[in-house]
Amino acid sequence: MKKILVLGAGISGHTAAMFLKRYLGNKATVTVISPAANYNWIPSNIWVGVGKMAEEDVKVPLAPIYQKMDIHFIQGKAVELWPEGNESNSKPFVKYLRTDINSEEKIAEDYDYLIHATGPKLNFEATPGLGPHGGHSVSVCTPDHAIEASRQLHAAIQEMKNGKRKTLLVGTGHGTCTCEGAAFEYVFNVDFELREHGVRHMADLYYITNEAALGDFGVNGMHLKVGGYVTSSKIFAESLYLEREVKYILGAHVSKVEKDHIEYETLDGNQHKLNFDFAMLLPPFKGNQLNSFAKNGEEITSKLFSPAGFMKVDADYEPKSVDDWSHEDWPKHYTCPLYKNIFAIGIAFAPPHQISVPRKSPNGTLITPAPPRTGMPSATMGRVVAKNIANQINGISEQKTCSMAELGAACVASAGSSFFKGTAATIVMSPIVPNFSHFPRTGRDDNETYGEIGLAGHWLKRILHTVFIYKAKANPFWWIIPE
Ligand SMILES: Cc1cc2nc3c(=O)[nH]c(=O)nc-3n(C[C@H](O)[C@H](O)[C@H](O)COP(=O)(O)OP(=O)(O)OC[C@H]3O[C@@H](n4cnc5c(N)ncnc54)[C@H](O)[C@@H]3O)c2cc1C
Repeated sequence: MKKILVLGAGISGHTAAMFLKRYLGNKATVTVISPAANYNWIPSNIWVGVGKMAEEDVKVPLAPIYQKMDIHFIQGKAVELWPEGNESNSKPFVKYLRTDINSEEKIAEDYDYLIHATGPKLNFEATPGLGPHGGHSVSVCTPDHAIEASRQLHAAIQEMKNGKRKTLLVGTGHGTCTCEGAAFEYVFNVDFELREHGVRHMADLYYITNEAALGDFGVNGMHLKVGGYVTSSKIFAESLYLEREVKYILGAHVSKVEKDHIEYETLDGNQHKLNFDFAMLLPPFKGNQLNSFAKNGEEITSKLFSPAGFMKVDADYEPKSVDDWSHEDWPKHYTCPLYKNIFAIGIAFAPPHQISVPRKSPNGTLITPAPPRTGMPSATMGRVVAKNIANQINGISEQKTCSMAELGAACVASAGSSFFKGTAATIVMSPIVPNFSHFPRTGRDDNETYGEIGLAGHWLKRILHTVFIYKAKANPFWWIIPE
């Protein structure tokens, strides 16, 4: 019986594990190694971060789901990869540390197929003073972070109610961050919360971003259909910020976060300072690289992982100028070129290059969003890679593709408190990586790339929360629900 090991029970890995079991039944054993006891539906952390949802609403215990599905779950953190085995073990294996008991002992788990789905390493260290672990800003990347963000936000709201004016800052905490969509969504939730508490007039609300223009989102912006006409995401986003009176700082690299102010450099090379009372700044991401070894013990980590710690897959990593970028550079199967039984999906795979045009300040500081790998494509990669592994095990030659130049993504910046109260800016695009061969005008499908504003978007996001948590719990007919 084949043994499939999945590292990471996040959006991509959990989806892959569930589909592997569905496709293969008892033809294979599926083992998941992941450090936390719970699955986190990360997109809804935004609502935890403004106090509209509780931690329990965005977390699902993994053990009962895996028990129900006959998936072996190990609460642990993978630390080493031996893709050829070693002198005493001829099978490839991963070494992990148990996190349920905080053990230092490295335990080996072998595999026939490996899916590396370990998501991002939140790199708060990139900016001095950034982040909730000893720094001066908050984050919404994990439920714990989001609870603290909500606590600090509501403390500031209370002071505003007592007549103190406050400066609130939301955005990216480094020039190379990704996930601008999350910061975009959070800033509008903060705006909504301030209005609900009747203190919007007491707040200066800023959005600070490494994007050169609003609406870039790390995908070089897009042209959207809005109410029957086509406009740029820049104009669409600018009007949202104007309407909600959110001030914005563009092309910014936050270089330091102090107790009450940030220092940042802008694309023109100028240095600035801004005081704040509350700051939610996202960290840049690194990959969770595993120290990797050949059979003879030689270290091969740099052959498998990019310098940023993401796993290299079937992408074209040859350095190219922007003019030579092609949708063909992007991976289709997420297979490791050196070991065809290893796959990397979701945020864990190394993108071939940015999607936004790379920009540097005159001082040489890189200020450009890294390519986003959002929930929908990450989960789709999980399903497709599961299908391809199942086909290989079943002797079926078909291998499906799911390039980010084929996949779409949606960003629903939803702020609201009920089905009757709230609003959302919905942006849908397809494909994520522009494909000028298929769509010569803009690189994207006009009919599948659109924006909308209104309460319906809030309903959609709320319904998606319920539906995706239902799916993550492997409740009846979970597999019918699309990614
Ligand atoms: C605040 C926020 C809001 C977002 N909102 C949206 C949204 O509205 N829509 C959208 O499409 N996307 C959104 N995203 C992006 C989305 O969350 C990611 O695209 C998605 O989680 C990526 O899936 P993943 O499986 O690659 O990583 P993750 O979901 O992060 O999962 C990685 C898993 O690997 C585990 N892991 C880490 N290290 C190891 C190790 N060494 N060994 C084993 N396991 C390990 C982690 O604990 C985790 O369980 C948002 C992101 C953030 C931060």
